[in-house]
Amino acid sequence: MYSNSDCQYIWGRCLDLIRGRVPPQTFSTWFQPIRAISISENTIFLQVPNKFFYDWLDSHYRDIIQGTLKEISGNGMNAKYTVLLSETEAEKNPEKDGVFQKTIESRPEIRAAQSGMLERGTRINENYVFDNFVEGKSNQFAKAASIAVSNSPGKTSFNPLVIYGGTGLGKTHLLQAIGNHALINGCAKKVVYVSSDTFTLDFIAAVQKNKTTDFVRYYRGVDMLLLDDIQFFQNKEQTQEQFFHIFNDLFQHHKQIVLTTDRPPLELRGLQERLLSRFQSSLTVDIQPPDLETRIAILNKKAQKDNLDLPYEVIEYIAQNVKSNIRELEGLLIRLLAYSSLMKVDIDILLARKVLRETGTIEKKSILSIEDIQKTVGDVYLVNLDLLVGKSRTKEVAEARMVAMYLAREYTNLSLKTIGIYFGGRDHSTVVHACKSVEDRSEKDDHFAQFIGQIKEKLKNAK
Ligand code: ADP
Ligand code: MG
Repeated sequence: MYSNSDCQYIWGRCLDLIRGRVPPQTFSTWFQPIRAISISENTIFLQVPNKFFYDWLDSHYRDIIQGTLKEISGNGMNAKYTVLLSETEAEKNPEKDGVFQKTIESRPEIRAAQSGMLERGTRINENYVFDNFVEGKSNQFAKAASIAVSNSPGKTSFNPLVIYGGTGLGKTHLLQAIGNHALINGCAKKVVYVSSDTFTLDFIAAVQKNKTTDFVRYYRGVDMLLLDDIQFFQNKEQTQEQFFHIFNDLFQHHKQIVLTTDRPPLELRGLQERLLSRFQSSLTVDIQPPDLETRIAILNKKAQKDNLDLPYEVIEYIAQNVKSNIRELEGLLIRLLAYSSLMKVDIDILLARKVLRETGTIEKKSILSIEDIQKTVGDVYLVNLDLLVGKSRTKEVAEARMVAMYLAREYTNLSLKTIGIYFGGRDHSTVVHACKSVEDRSEKDDHFAQFIGQIKEKLKNAK
């Protein structure tokens, strides 16, 4: 039995280790608010402020928490933890009886495989359905093919269906949606979703236990096999061999197979030729990064689902800045929500900027507008905007103008030509000259360099 002080001690030591492993901002935002409530047997109960916080923690820091717990507690304590909602959140969620519990285990498949207890099951996640998969030019064809296949598994010419695309673009979502749809419609009874990693672990465990026949029988008995991320099969010869036979068998019996990969099948290295040639006879559909409208639609859908009233400008701002990965898009939204509820501030464009900046999604360069720079420099030199962009050549004004141009080049992504336009339609060579003068003088004149440093500080604080 552990006492409360054991619990505080263990968690305190975990925090000490974690503090050294994550950036300070991450530590204060995501770890400091966690409270250790109790420990029973091999589970530590942690309390977090709300569900968003929980989701964020789970998706980003689960491994760190698990790993640290394991390290501190030794092998005696299983790295497993449960999260409780804080009281205030519980009041808002009476239907949950004030408790939001979820047990998290570190890579359960690996542990299970190691102990020979890997359980097979459909592994279908009901949250991934076609309804909440936002369609856009980038994924239209992939979605249409997925729907066709899930309506008539094994009966279309799309067998296997291969979906490929970069990470975080919705491959797993589509794959799971196919399974859900087929199950709900009753088009397939035994639907199995499995990542290639888990498939491999399952196979290894079967070999160790002399149960490969069971393994093969299980996968041959499915109506629909949804195999995720087949790039992980590379160089795993034996697993590929098994998969090849299972594949042929399912194919001959008109069972549907859907595969995903992060690159076009032909570019899959380390995969046997005969497996690749099977994929060539298939329908291959790709998912591209979504365009701006699709990204906005995805964020809107997410916000709606979570009953969030987000200002449109915030949605658009996030969508504009996160371009290539939908998982990151969702992550930022969660972080924003967590931040606003932790700090008790409204979600507005300023908060969005702050969060995007902290996560490194946008660099400082792109978040300052040229107007910010002109205003700050104008304030420092006591020169108003008209003068700054006008024709005056007095020493003060000319210097302020050059410094502002230099900072605009440093802190915005605007071209030299555009910067010139912002300064009363000056030529880009004038901007080049201004930047060079400021740089040269900074090198020679320490006072001036310091002065420029102070303006930069002011600019940082302006945001
Ligand atoms: P991948 O498997 O390609 O790495 P996922 O399927 O895991 O990507 O998608 C990452 C996240 O983005 C998931 O939460 C998923 O629900 C979401 N997502 C991806 N595409 C869409 C979409 N078109 N509409 C709504 N959500 C999407
Ligand atoms: Mg995936």
